Amino acid sequence: MHPISDAALAELKQNIQLWSRELGFDGIGISGAELGDAGPALQRWLGRGWHGEMNFMSRHADKRADPGLLVPGVFRIISVRLGYWSDAGSSAETVLRDSRKAYIARYALGRDYHRPMRRKLQRLADLITEAIGPFAYRAFVDSAPVMEKPLGQNAGLGWIGKNTNLIDPVTGSWFFLGELYTDLPLPVDSPHIDHCGSCTRCAEACPTNALDVPYQLDATLCIAYLTIEHKSSIPEALRPMIGNRIFGCDDCQLVCPHNREPGQGDEIFSARDGLDDISLLELFSWTPKTFAEYTQGSAIRRLGYERWMRNLAVALGNGPPDESVIAALRARLGAVSEMVDEHIHWALGRLGETSAATNMRDRS
Ligand code: SF4
Repeated sequence: MHPISDAALAELKQNIQLWSRELGFDGIGISGAELGDAGPALQRWLGRGWHGEMNFMSRHADKRADPGLLVPGVFRIISVRLGYWSDAGSSAETVLRDSRKAYIARYALGRDYHRPMRRKLQRLADLITEAIGPFAYRAFVDSAPVMEKPLGQNAGLGWIGKNTNLIDPVTGSWFFLGELYTDLPLPVDSPHIDHCGSCTRCAEACPTNALDVPYQLDATLCIAYLTIEHKSSIPEALRPMIGNRIFGCDDCQLVCPHNREPGQGDEIFSARDGLDDISLLELFSWTPKTFAEYTQGSAIRRLGYERWMRNLAVALGNGPPDESVIAALRARLGAVSEMVDEHIHWALGRLGETSAATNMRDRS
């Protein structure tokens, strides 16, 4: 542990709060390195198989549940919030209602957060070093087995709601999290209390009933999981419920009363290239090269072209049966992969193309 007096630690904490605000973080909190019930809860969730194909959740589950196994000697964890909500551009609800438009989760409309968050965390660590000399730390931005939401809750950045998001009672849940594991015995913050009460809006709004058990997410039903993490064919029974959501889903956040007046995020996360108001057909016309160009520096890049086209085929199948849509779907058959073809056949079948439906049955 770092040798430093209590008075100096209290002053350092105040400075860390000040520097964090200056760096653009809209929340900062400090917790101990123990996670209490979060580890056993993770094990129960994994035991149910609700993580689906996200094997990274089960790998190093012990390190996830015990920060001391990930970083020996860690004593305090500084958690920070970086908001991404933007009021500019088309509203989420307007896009969701228009089945010709593509809905992309609000966090992915602008620049990917990993690098900006890491730079800010590094700057914060540099400022601490300038103030007290060298100390042991490691910065994490979604880059290691870290239970960032329980840590954020313990640090007083919000409470984990029934929709499983970390929620600030005033500014809502539209933020990214980052962590600095340190050996500094800084004074800790108090965890937030739960403000969900008897509210059930998120569970009622979830298109696939993925939140039927409060405070637990069955990721295998979650549209964010199905459109981003799930690598293979999307289960047919769930495809109609996906609607026009092609990358993620925000429904459980959009209905949350604590998101009524969200805090404004950093403008680098505002929508770029009109992605907040763009047609499914236009995105379906992208070639692998266009996809690579437009998703440079975006969270969408890691999806890859095949899953991008798979998701678009599903969304087009959930839209109106326009001639242009049917022609575009037909034109892409054989162009990407067998998996995408299978989703295109499904979409054509949904749009009343009986020959496509027959083809699909013949293939199965
Ligand atoms: Fe909690 Fe209601 Fe928000 Fe769900 S919608 S997280 S129940 S406050």
